[in-house]
Amino acid sequence: MSKSKQTKPPARPDKPEPQKVLDELTEGNHRFTHDQRHHPRSDLLRRKEAHLGNQADHAMATVLACSDSRVPVEMIFDVGIMDLFVVRTAGHSMDSATLASVEYGMLHVHTPLLVVLGHTGCGAVTAALDMVQNDAVPAQASLRGLLSGITPAVHQAMADLPEAGAEELLDRAIEENVKQTMQALFRQSKAIREGVASGAFAAVGAIYDLAHGRVRWLEPQQTAGAPDPQNQAAAESRNEIGG
Ligand SMILES: [Zn+2]
Repeated sequence: MSKSKQTKPPARPDKPEPQKVLDELTEGNHRFTHDQRHHPRSDLLRRKEAHLGNQADHAMATVLACSDSRVPVEMIFDVGIMDLFVVRTAGHSMDSATLASVEYGMLHVHTPLLVVLGHTGCGAVTAALDMVQNDAVPAQASLRGLLSGITPAVHQAMADLPEAGAEELLDRAIEENVKQTMQALFRQSKAIREGVASGAFAAVGAIYDLAHGRVRWLEPQQTAGAPDPQNQAAAESRNEIGG
């Protein structure tokens, strides 16, 4: 790794702090789980605002989520139009378009928070598990390619929990997949690494529970992977901006 330049990521002081965004999403998810959604920023006025305005003045989080129709991202956080910049692929699998889209959300839509959102019962992770354990290889090359991006998470889960039953193993693989997706984002994007290290934005992993509708935030150390020491040092030295 070359020595990082002291490039300042684009700061938007008019945007809320990452922690405030996290709190707002947590509160919205609480309303969702209790069937008390407020449907904020979803009316005609907001739609007109979206037509005439700039999403970069409003959006508060970039969310990389699974395409699964059971995980309607804006609904589960009870947010509205221009609140989230959402990128979705099956199993939130990564490719160059996924990476570019997430970077666009962070750097051009200026969202203070990045969320990688997995979910219980994920079909893509289940299929990857099936591919590893039962050699169930899909006929389509494109799907094989997507699933092979998830198999490292499956192998890690199997190594961590050699005695686990099917359900426990799937849950672990889903969580590991979130963690590895975040590691891939950090590894592949200097802009994301530096933005997080400087405190310009934060990144967090989460699991949406289909049974209860609840989003569980993962601890930063579970999701950010092993940032290289140089980034960590940068983050520590700039802690004072975090407040
Ligand atoms: Zn899924």
